[in-house]
Amino acid sequence: MANPSLLVLPGDGIGPEVMAEVKKIIHWFGARRGIHFDVTEDLVGGAAYDVHGVPLSDATMQKAMAVDAVLLGAVGGPKYDVLDFSVKPERGLLRLRKEMDLFSNLRPARCFDALADFSSLKKEVVAGLDIVIVRELTGGVYFGEPRGIFPDNEGGRVGVNTQRYTTNEIRRVARSAFELARRRSNRVCSMEKANVMESGILWREEVQWVHDHEYPDVALSHMYADNGAMQLVRWPKQFDVIVTDNLFGDVLSDCAAMLTGSLGMLPSASLGAIGPNGRPKALYEPVHGSAPDIAGTGKANPIACILSFAMALRYSFDLGAEAARVEAAVEKVLADGVRTADLMGPEGGTPVSTTGMGAAVIAALDARLEA
Ligand code: NAD
Repeated sequence: MANPSLLVLPGDGIGPEVMAEVKKIIHWFGARRGIHFDVTEDLVGGAAYDVHGVPLSDATMQKAMAVDAVLLGAVGGPKYDVLDFSVKPERGLLRLRKEMDLFSNLRPARCFDALADFSSLKKEVVAGLDIVIVRELTGGVYFGEPRGIFPDNEGGRVGVNTQRYTTNEIRRVARSAFELARRRSNRVCSMEKANVMESGILWREEVQWVHDHEYPDVALSHMYADNGAMQLVRWPKQFDVIVTDNLFGDVLSDCAAMLTGSLGMLPSASLGAIGPNGRPKALYEPVHGSAPDIAGTGKANPIACILSFAMALRYSFDLGAEAARVEAAVEKVLADGVRTADLMGPEGGTPVSTTGMGAAVIAALDARLEA
């Protein structure tokens, strides 16, 4: 059987720095676990613009469509702020999401015990937290027509955006959430505003339909999104998988992310339809950006990118036990007190560099194999 294929797009700023540590872990899997990947590397964002004059070349797009999974670092930086909107680095990422039709965005919020003090919430509220927000990514108010700023009838202007969801759009992201829940604690909470929005009523009905017809074994609950925001900070451990639309998901996933502390710890996956290879189209990336303020200083925390690769192991390659192996290595390193600068508490200490953290994770992977 052919090796699973990965397209690695390090991008800009700290992207290549954190991705270098992930590449070492990919190599480790070949050398120590006999799990080999066919890895191709290419340019995205400003790095692609510098060479091709566009933030994602057609050739790279074709490669992304052909591989089993794409792993991306980060894009953007002040050097590119002056570029026309159409060629800004972020357009490369948006093109990938659009053409791969990645409609389901998975944002885990997991609090490693060793970092529970980092949350702005009380330790007992977040310790052991492990939830995932599934955000619909390609529809809703960010894309709905009509949209624009128009003259109104009173000599002023009116800004218009349209929240619009079809049965198909809701059902496919609901399925993605139910599938995910089956691999976890088998619970889904769907969030909308069915009390004030017709699109929310349809959302609730369609999620319920998918549940009743296809996933009756999964426990489904519904919650208004404003209550959901409140519950997320009151007692987040009540949730397992949350599924919600693009706008609410944007807000709720950032809120949930901060329960866990640092931006340098947060992975994500964006999934599309299942292809002929039995795998979803998939893009894995850390939540953080290119962090120009620390790029080139060796301060970047590679864990978000490493955990994004772990998500690829689980969701693209069905290697859940290997994903857990990576996550356990990260947990061990943090429990041992190894910290990059972003994870330093008020008690201080000496932070490790990006490569120091990568090496510590690999040492923990080795130690577990040899135990
Ligand atoms: P950012 O996420 O790059 O940085 C925000 C803050 O968090 C900075 O202080 C940074 O040093 C810190 N930080 C981020 N990742 C870190 C890590 N791994 N380790 C340690 N510290 C980390 O967001 P920003 O500053 O708003 O944006 C910078 C650039 O990145 C902009 O050009 C923006 O458009 C782009 N951006 C890209 C993505 C992406 O590629 N998906 C996402 C967000 C922002």
